[in-house]
Amino acid sequence: MRSVQISEERYVELKGQRCIYCNGDALWGFGMGRSDTYVTQQISCSGCMNTWHDQYKLCGYEVDTCPYPLTDKKISSSELEEACQDKGQTEHSYYTIAKWRQAVSKDYSLLGYWDWVFTKIHSDSWQ
Ligand SMILES: [Zn+2]
Repeated sequence: MRSVQISEERYVELKGQRCIYCNGDALWGFGMGRSDTYVTQQISCSGCMNTWHDQYKLCGYEVDTCPYPLTDKKISSSELEEACQDKGQTEHSYYTIAKWRQAVSKDYSLLGYWDWVFTKIHSDSWQ
């Protein structure tokens, strides 16, 4: 086995984009694992065929915020349509007619527009 050519510090500076053995950039990452201290991922270099594990530390989180009013989740598809019309909108602010047309054109849905909006709102994970 070759010896390591890049220090850990330099590897982090390079954002893990270079092989630690041959400095190549054809790297493949495999599944994530977990040790007591780190989340790890096996990395393989297709230039020299060596492998190693990257170590990841948790540094925080970002809150996912719902891009439309949460009250939309509590009403029926016809009430949704009325609520949008009351605001002078012909479509839902997030699940737009363009998105619906795309879903229908790809055969992801056979629903009419407002029923599709209702289904999307009740299947997304925003709370
Ligand atoms: Zn390599």
